[in-house]
Amino acid sequence: MKKVILKKSGEEKLKSYSQWVYTNEIKKAPRDILPGEVVEIFSSSGRFLGLGYYNPLSKIPLRVLTFFKRGDIRQLIRDRIKRAVEKRRKLHINSDAFRIVHSEGDFLPGLIVDYYSGYLSVQINTAGMENLRETIIDVLIENISPEGIIDKSDEKVRKKEGLETENRVIYGAVPDVVRINENGILFNVYLKEGQKTGFYLDQRENRKIVSSVVEGGFSVLDLFSNAGGFGIYAGKMGASYITFVDISEKALEQVRENCSLNEITDYTVVNQNAFDFLKEEVKSGNKYDLIILDPPSFAKTKSEKEGALRGFKYLILNSLKLLKENGYLAVFSCSYHVDMNDLLEVSASASTDTKIPVGVREFMYQDRDHPVLVNMPNTLYLKGLLLERL
Ligand code: SAH
Repeated sequence: MKKVILKKSGEEKLKSYSQWVYTNEIKKAPRDILPGEVVEIFSSSGRFLGLGYYNPLSKIPLRVLTFFKRGDIRQLIRDRIKRAVEKRRKLHINSDAFRIVHSEGDFLPGLIVDYYSGYLSVQINTAGMENLRETIIDVLIENISPEGIIDKSDEKVRKKEGLETENRVIYGAVPDVVRINENGILFNVYLKEGQKTGFYLDQRENRKIVSSVVEGGFSVLDLFSNAGGFGIYAGKMGASYITFVDISEKALEQVRENCSLNEITDYTVVNQNAFDFLKEEVKSGNKYDLIILDPPSFAKTKSEKEGALRGFKYLILNSLKLLKENGYLAVFSCSYHVDMNDLLEVSASASTDTKIPVGVREFMYQDRDHPVLVNMPNTLYLKGLLLERL
């Protein structure tokens, strides 16, 4: 096996169980390493630190697979996937859709596997994982016996790794639509054309938390609704009217379908930019008991953070203006770079500017099937606040 030697900074990272090593933390790597090749990792003083895969084309050239001496990397991958599956069985998630492998969070950097009621949606996002594709698919079939597997690998991410992308069914058969049951609520998931790997599974517990404050007669505004997760939970909890807003007409078609699956009839969908919608709504004087703000990631990199905070400020400030007395506002950030403290700070400043006192009813995070590692802070990406107008 080829050897990669780390600088002191890289060594420190591995000692604290971080799985990512950047170019400036690497002292020496052989020139002839093939993209994704498994390598042995050593400190400058020659101490063995682990095994990982190396891709000279990637911004994160070295990803660690194990901090121990392991002979057979394919066996390691098998064990890891098996462990991830067992872990999910112990979580007692009240749904037939959940994440089985969460990349670094399951010590399988570059691999994401979601289960949707008998079918699997996989993302193989690095050259290192691509080299192990056969083993991955094999062990998934062995342990889960799915009826079909679809490859939904992320095109943008793979490009950075120098890989081509082809989204297609790679095992068995996968229907266009899969019906899932999450906490007793039904959703149609479009595995072939949906966003992400199909459905926003990471918000499962938060949909429950947010909808738990709903009382009969509530009017609800679900902004950035996608397939309608939050609003539909609210409807099931007795909300009397729900407004769903999304910029994607396809997402709204799914909202209509999911409403009808759950016998929700009093709702409207608005195909508009949520920023513009809010502006007009503030003018119109409509008020809501519960507003949900679940925007896409505004800050993919640190340099985008300032702009992201401005976006959040605008959204929170205008949503507060639309809240009835004692109303609730749920706001989420799925960017690692905008963290819980940022959400609190922006909320404070929006509260001050609007002269609306606000309290925190709940702190929310990604659901447990998306594990967080204390040594890799970026594994904690989803945070949310359920605010209460006082
Ligand atoms: N709340 C959803 C997930 C939201 S994902 C759930 O629980 O399932 C973010 C959604 O925001 C996507 O559906 C995307 O189409 C939509 N979106 C992105 N930019 C938008 C904008 N400017 N205005 C309205 N919707 C937007």
